[in-house]
Amino acid sequence: MSALRMLPPVHRLLAEPGVARLIETLGHQVVAEGVRLVVENLRQELVDGSRKEITIEAATDLVVWHLTRSEIPLIRTVINATGIILHTNLGRSPLAKAAAKAAYYAGRRYLNLEMDLESGKRSSRQTPLRKLLTRLTGAQSATVVNNCAAATILTLRVLAQGKEVIVSRGQLIEIGGSFRIPEIMAASGALLREVGTTNITRIGDYEKAIGPNTGALMRVHTSNYKVVGFTKEASLAELVELGQKYNLPVIDDAGSGAIHDPSPYGLKGEPIPQEAIRLGAAVTLFSGDKLLGGPQAGLIAGHRTWIEKLEKDPLMRAFRCDKMTLASLEETLRIHLDPVRARREIPVLAMLSTPVGDLEKRAKAMACLLTETGIDAVAGPDVAYVGGGTLPDERIPTWTIRIDPKAHSLKLRADDVAKKLRTGNPSVVARIDQGKIVIDPRTVFFKQEGALIEALSKVFVVRE
Ligand SMILES: *Cc1c(COP(=O)(O)O)cnc(C)c1O
Repeated sequence: MSALRMLPPVHRLLAEPGVARLIETLGHQVVAEGVRLVVENLRQELVDGSRKEITIEAATDLVVWHLTRSEIPLIRTVINATGIILHTNLGRSPLAKAAAKAAYYAGRRYLNLEMDLESGKRSSRQTPLRKLLTRLTGAQSATVVNNCAAATILTLRVLAQGKEVIVSRGQLIEIGGSFRIPEIMAASGALLREVGTTNITRIGDYEKAIGPNTGALMRVHTSNYKVVGFTKEASLAELVELGQKYNLPVIDDAGSGAIHDPSPYGLKGEPIPQEAIRLGAAVTLFSGDKLLGGPQAGLIAGHRTWIEKLEKDPLMRAFRCDKMTLASLEETLRIHLDPVRARREIPVLAMLSTPVGDLEKRAKAMACLLTETGIDAVAGPDVAYVGGGTLPDERIPTWTIRIDPKAHSLKLRADDVAKKLRTGNPSVVARIDQGKIVIDPRTVFFKQEGALIEALSKVFVVRE
């Protein structure tokens, strides 16, 4: 028990200059708690014998280390070196600068969220977004909720609660593990009526299923998988025509929301909201943080009567977006008014449209710098995936850097290297392929390149 006598008292550690300095930034409460925790751990270690001695200097270092570490936010910026542009686990789409600024000021100040400044009367938080969304999509009206899943539940509930909604079997998708059309349908109170088969659904299959309890026809964009080979799907135009014949609304769950056709960048067959509206869909639904490149949100554009009904539903109150989301979404939509500006300022679109030649140059330059620091890095052509859980099937050509961890003196395993990179500061998320660490510059912001190289050299280069 004599070792316990070495344990520094809490008040003594709090008075140490290194610890006292932290009180200025973190406050007395937090620092005192940190000191107590460290002292308690030391006591345990001295009691169980895992530690034989402790000095005041060593205890001070432990307290400072503990407190500075706990200062790093739990939710923090990471360098996305995976090449997956819409990585759901990494926050999907990074915002345009103007959009992020709008969120910042909406957070820091009061704003006219629900006040018409002309009259001083209460207004709807949807009005500014409605203006921009109708302009961009050509729809009569529009409204916004928290995400596309909420948009789907709300729409199904309002258009078809207690009624059947006819969907092709080939479109009963699951997205990102928790969005499954049958479950969403059940949650909404609408009844799923599946038609056709996984690979073939003809317009006649929908027509045969229409009965007195049919509430709507629905098309779901199968954004994250493809049925290849012998396939047939009814087109949205055919569905709309059928809907008109039987006076049924057509719901278009488009998912990714490509306001500007991304096919020149290799993304074929993405539904365009304007196109769904032009064809006559009652409503088209899409995410704010996929190809729109904005904050997480669910955008609903369509006929005025339906949008009015949606906005009167009590769920709308539960699903409504907060002020920071709305402010950054407004700014994102404003940028989309000009396609050239959108491609330049919206990170998702800029990354998607980066010419492979530019990526080749960046990969080669980074590989060169890494080699200079003693890392065996090889640049070469590769393929990237646009989305993790969102558009995982969409591949685009890219250039990557491959590092073989076994070729280095540390003889590390790729998994261990990846973990070190993830938990470092800055945190780097890379891909592993065939035992190699793969770095794709497409999703690495130009400004992050220096930090990325430093992070890699911290892991790979042994310093004496
Ligand atoms: C991604 C997606 C959703 C879900 O959107 P969230 O914004 O993630 O809720 C719904 N439908 C389709 C077709 C999608 O691609």
